[in-house]
Amino acid sequence: MPADSPEDTLFSKIIRREIPADIVYEDDLCLAFRDITPQAPTHILLIPKKPIPQLGEAAAGDKALLGHLLYTISEIARQEKLDDGYRVVINTGKNGGQTVFHLHLHLLGDRALGWPPG
Ligand code: 5GP
Repeated sequence: MPADSPEDTLFSKIIRREIPADIVYEDDLCLAFRDITPQAPTHILLIPKKPIPQLGEAAAGDKALLGHLLYTISEIARQEKLDDGYRVVINTGKNGGQTVFHLHLHLLGDRALGWPPG
């Protein structure tokens, strides 16, 4: 991907280590790092290295990757000792409140979370 392509969000820059981040997990397919504006005492973002802009743009061929992300975030929750529970969120599109158009899963924990979300 060219460095200045529309798909080249700041998360791609974090993957390439051009922007610093507090990385908590990495494998061949994905990267997890702490959110810069945490909404809970533990707030981690998990992103695929493949720059899928949003959930609705994932292809049928991405099913295994999507499953890997969901399984991996549960492993990270275990690693973070979120034994009392946590929430996994994928904001999608304008009404979903998405601000960075590189698919990401939020992992929120270490406090009781309200429902419904705002
Ligand atoms: P969204 O609103 O798209 O679901 O989530 C984007 C998230 O990225 C937000 O929670 C925001 O705080 C986080 N974020 C934005 N810029 C940066 C950054 O440069 N570094 C890190 N670690 N997180 C960021």
